[in-house]
Amino acid sequence: MTMSDDQTGSTDQANDRATHPGRDDPHTAHIVDGNAVVGALQDLLAGDLSMLMLECGGCRATAPLAEWRVEADRDAFIVRCRSCTHTLWTLLRDDRGAVLRVAGACDIRPAAV
Ligand SMILES: [Zn+2]
Repeated sequence: MTMSDDQTGSTDQANDRATHPGRDDPHTAHIVDGNAVVGALQDLLAGDLSMLMLECGGCRATAPLAEWRVEADRDAFIVRCRSCTHTLWTLLRDDRGAVLRVAGACDIRPAAV
């Protein structure tokens, strides 16, 4: 989803800006392309991935990736909450490689320092 797809906000194409009125502090965001998020995404995924902190969108349980329940078979790894069984995300494997499918609300943060 892009900011322009956000059903809660509005986009002013002429000014390349979007508003996010549903937030506690409504503000204006700039519309940019995907390159803008690459550095932040690389920072998030740098280091020991087993220590990424995940928060379940279902029950808000939080733990490092290494401690979550994973259902693994030939084609996929399904990461599920140990407390409420909510599916956080699925890593699929096919003949074209890996695909990460985020199933629902799930916060992913760098390992605690
Ligand atoms: Zn949960």
